[in-house]
Amino acid sequence: MMGTEVSVYLWSDDRDTGQAALEAVYREADRIDRLMSTYKDDSEISNINRQAAKSALVVSAELYGLIRRSIEISELTAGAFDITYESVGQHFDFHKRQRPNEGTVADELLNIDYRYLQLDHDSNSVGFTQPGVLINLGGIAKGYVVEQGVRVLRSMGISNAIVTAGGDSRLLGDRRGRPWMVGIRDPRKDGKVAISIPLANEAVSTSGDYERFFDEDGVRYHHIIHPSTGTPASGVHSATVFGPDAVTTDALSTSVFVMGVDSGLRMIASLPNYESIVIDATGQVYFSSGLEQPRKPAAE
Ligand code: ADP
Ligand code: MG
Repeated sequence: MMGTEVSVYLWSDDRDTGQAALEAVYREADRIDRLMSTYKDDSEISNINRQAAKSALVVSAELYGLIRRSIEISELTAGAFDITYESVGQHFDFHKRQRPNEGTVADELLNIDYRYLQLDHDSNSVGFTQPGVLINLGGIAKGYVVEQGVRVLRSMGISNAIVTAGGDSRLLGDRRGRPWMVGIRDPRKDGKVAISIPLANEAVSTSGDYERFFDEDGVRYHHIIHPSTGTPASGVHSATVFGPDAVTTDALSTSVFVMGVDSGLRMIASLPNYESIVIDATGQVYFSSGLEQPRKPAAE
């Protein structure tokens, strides 16, 4: 979905139940993709992008809820997370190594601001206050997919599973008595794990500059856009956030990536249930204040 892979790993004593559970998660992912993918002309989100600047339109409760959550995260992150990044984002094509020129960036930057979205809670309607505004839920929808995936599994009686979509995973239960070991990729060494963390019953999201990108003249152009410059955010190679809810960890990992080590970790410190691990552009690893710094065992 949305250009990434969805995978499910689960335990079931009964093969048919396990198989049915897998298929139910994939169906749910497909349903959400059809609602929220800007790649699909007939998705609800594409319809909003076509209509909302002309007049506000009523949207499904599900999409409305996610847009509303996105705006809350924008407020929490002082605009680092902003689904209106899409007016610039639409001009990138990472497969074709295409990026907007400076003039286009400057023009489209005028359309990036989550405050251009007008939401009406009574009618579930969404409007844009000016033409040119576009939204894309790519920074939050995969978290929603894995959260929903786990909900589906739970309803089918599964209690130990991992649902992953791109950089977002939701863990259900543990690895049958032991925690899951979740690896954070080394952002510059393919297939290498930089850090492993034991987790159970949590969500974990990583945003990195190695997922969708191309390099040109020593500059890495990737898919996480700084809303105040309209260009890919620099300074961080990967930002991981974990906590109880995957929708939140997804949006926050993108946010911390944009905000950088200092203000990103300060923002995370204000949220009691969320922690973060950031790898900066020099490879240095930083931990949020709630995590104990790993210590080398004392030499004997
Ligand atoms: P991944 O897609 O690898 O899981 P992220 O969760 O960080 O990574 O999501 C990156 C996606 O978020 C981009 O592909 C784009 O759709 C969207 N995005 C990019 N910049 C922003 C931003 N500043 N605020 C909100 N969403 C963004
Ligand atoms: Mg994210």
